[in-house]
Amino acid sequence: MSDTLTIALSKGRIFKETLPLLAHAGIVPKDDPEKSRKLILDTNHEKVKLVIIRASDVPTYVEYGAADLGVAGKDVLLEHGGEGLYEPLDLNIARCKLMVAGPKGEAEPVGRMKIATKFVNSTRRYYARMGKQVEIIKLYGSMELAPLVGLADRIVDLVDTGNTLKANGLEPLEHIADISSRLVVNKASMKMKHDTVQGFIDRIAEAVEKH
Ligand code: AMP
Repeated sequence: MSDTLTIALSKGRIFKETLPLLAHAGIVPKDDPEKSRKLILDTNHEKVKLVIIRASDVPTYVEYGAADLGVAGKDVLLEHGGEGLYEPLDLNIARCKLMVAGPKGEAEPVGRMKIATKFVNSTRRYYARMGKQVEIIKLYGSMELAPLVGLADRIVDLVDTGNTLKANGLEPLEHIADISSRLVVNKASMKMKHDTVQGFIDRIAEAVEKH
């Protein structure tokens, strides 16, 4: 690798599922972010570093060039807005669905519904597309609680197995988007470090094919 590369990743599911893809590209981190408190991880390549940040901060780091590349969920990218970065590859990992959910068996209330979500922009766009006027209530987590305590009529959240909804007496109602993690690239890095960045993307694309 002739240029330095900084790759932004979040801890947990994305890190775990990205590791085998990085290994295919010949990159192995020297520390485990679940055990270490370091925010910058060295790798077996002197010129490649990983920065460990919150999932929702990955597009910001990559857009501003603090990282050349990153891995972010499509949910996060939809909220961030896609203009400032390239999104060359669907990594096909951390797959789930962005859905509207509500109390099981309950009819849609008349009038303007209250929707609790952390995904404010995606939710606003979805209901605008449906031509429905709703009130969006921003939450930072545990959306499933909102309908149970009368804070909202519906929630918009990520659904994988559906177990979390079920455990809280909710059911999935409407599908908004299929979600998976994407490789994102800083636009200037793509130009200035083209061979290194494109080489990395190609190796990761091969790894995705094989998985
Ligand atoms: P589940 O009970 O399997 O439907 O999982 C739903 C819970 O896990 C929700 O609280 C989601 O926010 C979270 N979740 C599921 N899949 C993902 C994913 N791919 N990325 C981030 N969070 C997820």
